[in-house]
Amino acid sequence: LAERLEDAWKKLRGQDKISQANIQDALKEVRRALLSADVNLQVVKKFVADVETTAMGADVIAGVRPDQQFIKIVYDELVQVMGESNVPLAKADTSPTIVLMAGLQGTGKTTATAKLALHLGKENRSCLMVATDVYRPAAIDQLVTLGEQINIPVFEMGTDTNPVEIACQGVAHAKETGVDTVIIDTAGRLQIDAEMMAELAQIKDNVKPDEVLLVVDAMTGQEAATLTHTFNQQIGITGAILTKLDGDTRGGAALSVRQVSGQPIKFVGVGEKVEALQPFYPDRMASRILGMGDVLTLVEKAQEEIDMADAAQMQEKMLNAQFDFSDFLKQMRLLKNMGSLGGLMKLMPGMGKLSSDQLEKGEGKLKQTEAMINSMTAEERRNPDLLAGSPSRRRRIARGSGHSEREVSSLISEFTKMRSLMKQMGQGQMGGLPGMGGM
Ligand code: GDP
Ligand code: MG
Repeated sequence: LAERLEDAWKKLRGQDKISQANIQDALKEVRRALLSADVNLQVVKKFVADVETTAMGADVIAGVRPDQQFIKIVYDELVQVMGESNVPLAKADTSPTIVLMAGLQGTGKTTATAKLALHLGKENRSCLMVATDVYRPAAIDQLVTLGEQINIPVFEMGTDTNPVEIACQGVAHAKETGVDTVIIDTAGRLQIDAEMMAELAQIKDNVKPDEVLLVVDAMTGQEAATLTHTFNQQIGITGAILTKLDGDTRGGAALSVRQVSGQPIKFVGVGEKVEALQPFYPDRMASRILGMGDVLTLVEKAQEEIDMADAAQMQEKMLNAQFDFSDFLKQMRLLKNMGSLGGLMKLMPGMGKLSSDQLEKGEGKLKQTEAMINSMTAEERRNPDLLAGSPSRRRRIARGSGHSEREVSSLISEFTKMRSLMKQMGQGQMGGLPGMGGM
């Protein structure tokens, strides 16, 4: 046991802080995850570099590998970067609140207009939807149909009036009828073009909206960054709606949109139905983007199980060579609480370095050790020297735990060796608790 401890300690030596060297694999994983989630390359580079800088030199949590912990830091940072959850829609001091929808064709603007109106209706905010997509007659019909479906009025003037004029008249109509919020649906092109931007800018200048929401199709992928940049620069957006998240996209566009515009994603669209609108939750999105649910679960588990205060206290004891069998047992149970070692390793894709043979041996040894400690009296656990000096005590423990006297003796001598090793470590400049002490 002492030898193993020594080995474990050697591995941990110099790894009590997160360093460039001990997170290389994790860094690669994270980059790969972000790119395969279709986060824009530039955004990935900046994000990863930022997190690396923050993480460098952070203390490693006992029992958690530095690279695993780094992934947790990435996750936390991702949640942070993506902003607050559930950011509500603006509300103007004097009604109506004006919301302008912007985005490319087919991204889901018209659908989102109706979804938003239905959502606001639930908050007792009455809505008027304005149809300004005069380029496709079907677009006006689409909004009218949706309006009938959810019982919300639609303002339209056919296809012969200028969209800017329609928007202004729509807002005037909303004022007259005392509506709380006007949502202006607009036309989009398949690609950004100058005419579309000019028209959108004109509508914006004339109606002075409280919100300009960029509707982004989550499947846009890498392009989401450029798209957001252009709309934000030329029109100025106050938020975004990310649609079609019910598809199998990992949603990397969320990070791109947020990083590039600095504006919050306010809602996500999760289906074709008008009810399929949800508030934006950065934590869910971060898990989805990283696609590392299992690893995160592992790190969180470790964090939960390891009571930092307890660990600090134990470390103190170790350094003073007061560490006794009770502490040892506690530490072993900590390990066991985290699930079997094998299960633990399986949670780390491509990261478990122990062979199943080694694992089995390790687990078997843990069980034996626990049985022997369980047969000790409280006094014996506190004072291992009692055992070293008394064959009759050792015999009793051997019988009680179903092990041989030799095994009990060897546990005691290993424990004693370990304790003096710890004492040496305490006298060296090395701090830190070898969290996997039972291995
Ligand atoms: P617009 O051209 O921007 O107005 O886009 P539309 O609102 O007409 O939507 C284009 C297509 O995307 C339609 O077939 C919608 O049903 C579909 N759509 C919109 N939002 C979502 C969504 O959140 N999930 C799914 N699966 N489809 C959506
Ligand atoms: Mg439309």
